[in-house]
Amino acid sequence: MHQPPSTSRRTFLQESACSLAAWPWAGLLHGTVTADSSTTQDPTPVKVIASENGLDATRHAYKLLLQGADTLDAAVAAVTLVEDDPNDTSVGYGGLPNEDGVVELDAAVMHGPTHRAGAVAALRNIRHAAQVARLVMEQTDHQLLVGEGALRFAIAQGFKEENLLTEKARKIWLYWRQTRGPSDDWLPPPLDKVDPEVRQYFERHTGTVHVACLNAAGEVSCVTSTSGLAFKIAGRVGDSPIVGAGLYADGQVGSCGSTGRGEANLAGLGSFLAVELMRGGASPLEAGLEVLRRVVKQTPARLLDEEGRPRFDLKYFLLAKDGRHAGVSMWLPARYAVTDANGSRLEEAAGLYHRPPKQ
Ligand code: ASP
Repeated sequence: MHQPPSTSRRTFLQESACSLAAWPWAGLLHGTVTADSSTTQDPTPVKVIASENGLDATRHAYKLLLQGADTLDAAVAAVTLVEDDPNDTSVGYGGLPNEDGVVELDAAVMHGPTHRAGAVAALRNIRHAAQVARLVMEQTDHQLLVGEGALRFAIAQGFKEENLLTEKARKIWLYWRQTRGPSDDWLPPPLDKVDPEVRQYFERHTGTVHVACLNAAGEVSCVTSTSGLAFKIAGRVGDSPIVGAGLYADGQVGSCGSTGRGEANLAGLGSFLAVELMRGGASPLEAGLEVLRRVVKQTPARLLDEEGRPRFDLKYFLLAKDGRHAGVSMWLPARYAVTDANGSRLEEAAGLYHRPPKQ
């Protein structure tokens, strides 16, 4: 789950040393550069990476890959675990709803070896959005189905409708609705009646799961699934189901996926850009940081703090087909999940700016 810095936290620590350094790959899509030494080539490249909430998912996908599963099968199975988790309020069942209290899911899959993709957006009542996206890829001549059409397609494929709003998510939504502002007819509830767990969601949370799989043949596929921006306008679609933005995989290069403020990623197609930078010779780390820098340059003033730093978070997870990988984040500290021959772990992401430590 990603918590963008609030306006009340405008005093941040100084930027990390790397943030303002001249960037040799700026504007470079094709060209040869030296690989970054911080990510080394792995001789046994079976590897799964994910957003931080996907650690168990990476373990599951890794086992499937060792059993010979296709990279997309493994990534979808991994994401399904997260979609089933009622405690993850950013994905699938238990995800935070839109402003009307209705859960709307976005998901996309991309199969690197065949360069095919499928996606669904604003899907209601079906928890396994990534599985539906996969069927869009496999069983239609389309790439993206939305809203009512996506739901009808899922039902036709045998998915069962259910209410995705858990009691926890409903309470969080209700508290948001009751405390939104003084110019409506809702009154804030007495504080002693509000579960402290609910109150901690007062700041607007976002979150998503991204999983990328690499098998021993050097094939890469990836999946992104989300309930999107909490309390969004009904019908709002973020970056997650948009190929090139929320994810991208190229069989010759590798993959990238994102979490965080979708609108900031959509305009620059960050995942596509990251993969193209890797194609040009940048390491996953270099490519990810360069994409973040471009986002900063393209951010409108209303979303920047007094020091020109975005008031939102954005993360990318990059996996090269030779096994190198990186997680990068606008704001640090941040972590991402990795499972490979060295086990399952959370690794530190690199990034542009440091949050102040919590008081
Ligand atoms: N990227 C997602 C969206 O904008 C949300 C998130 O990852 O926090 O819908």
